[in-house]
Amino acid sequence: MNGRRYKDYYAILGVSRDASQEEIKKAYRKLARKHHPDANPQNKKEAEEKFKEISEAYEVLGNTKKRQEYDQGVRFFETGFRPGFDFRDFGFERPFGNFGRFADLFDLFGFGGGAYERAPERGKDLHYSIQLSFEDAMRGVVTKINIPRQTTCPACRGSGARAGTAPKVCPECSGRGMVAQNQGFFSISRTCRRCMGRGTIIENPCPSCHGAGVTKETQPVTVKIPAGAENGTRIRFAGKGEGGLRGGPPGDLYIITKVATHPTFKRRGGDILLDLPLTFTEAALGTKIKIPTLNGTVSLKVPPGTQDGQVLRLRGKGAPRVKGLGKGDMLVVARIAVPRRLSSREKKILEEFAKVHKENPREHLEGLKSKK
Ligand SMILES: [Zn+2]
Ligand SMILES: [Zn+2]
Repeated sequence: MNGRRYKDYYAILGVSRDASQEEIKKAYRKLARKHHPDANPQNKKEAEEKFKEISEAYEVLGNTKKRQEYDQGVRFFETGFRPGFDFRDFGFERPFGNFGRFADLFDLFGFGGGAYERAPERGKDLHYSIQLSFEDAMRGVVTKINIPRQTTCPACRGSGARAGTAPKVCPECSGRGMVAQNQGFFSISRTCRRCMGRGTIIENPCPSCHGAGVTKETQPVTVKIPAGAENGTRIRFAGKGEGGLRGGPPGDLYIITKVATHPTFKRRGGDILLDLPLTFTEAALGTKIKIPTLNGTVSLKVPPGTQDGQVLRLRGKGAPRVKGLGKGDMLVVARIAVPRRLSSREKKILEEFAKVHKENPREHLEGLKSKK
């Protein structure tokens, strides 16, 4: 490591290393005015480059915290490793273990490319939604879905090099991914054009993937949707996402179920709800009726005196639970249907009934009134 492979922001702004923040600001303003692309219509492209560089330098040096980090970095690169090298000398709290911090530093110096891009990379997670009928969601389904995804190239196992060959260290940058370049009075690093910052080059590309290491293909993936999936249930299929890069593991596939509504039944978690209309007399006298469930009809005992909205529970006749064991219940909700038209005979009977029926459903309301 030598001192010439970082961008010398002080040189770019033409200030000394011990310049005050005020001096840095002044120098930046002066240069920004001079090199502003609008002020240089003849040399617009060149001015743009220069202006970008000035702005970048000021973004770091104009911020005291970033400037401090930059100064530490410069000292690090100029001094390099030596026996007894201690990261703490440079203001780092921890040595290499503090990887995030170290990576930031490399980013700052434009070294980001090489070392990181070459590391194995986990494949991306994929998210898909699947439409299910109410019944299929209850039963569970095994289905094949076509998913366009990136997979590790089987021919080269992701290396991108023809079978039997291996990627070589880039001779242009010696594997660093960056090259130093002198531009006038300062020196800058740029991404190596030969290897595009990878640090390696492939001399014999794999014929299947043309050196990319991955192939994009639409593959049928078999997914098993467990019984009892609800609207919005997310199911994870480990390793069924996109293939990893450079030997990294594949990502996961997530299927989100969208369940259609049913004309008769409603879902509430593991429970199935059914509205059951009852005539006034059925509710009052009680009865036994056949009702539909998701597994055929069953007979249901309606007890005498059943009220509107009362829930009759059929244990274990609900939906299977995706997580956990067993099934939910079927909840039958009584809905009392009042006769809309009465024949004169029916009317007479009901009037007779009203005369003898002494129950007052508004007793509690009247009680409140009398307290006033
Ligand atoms: Zn390949
Ligand atoms: Zn290179």
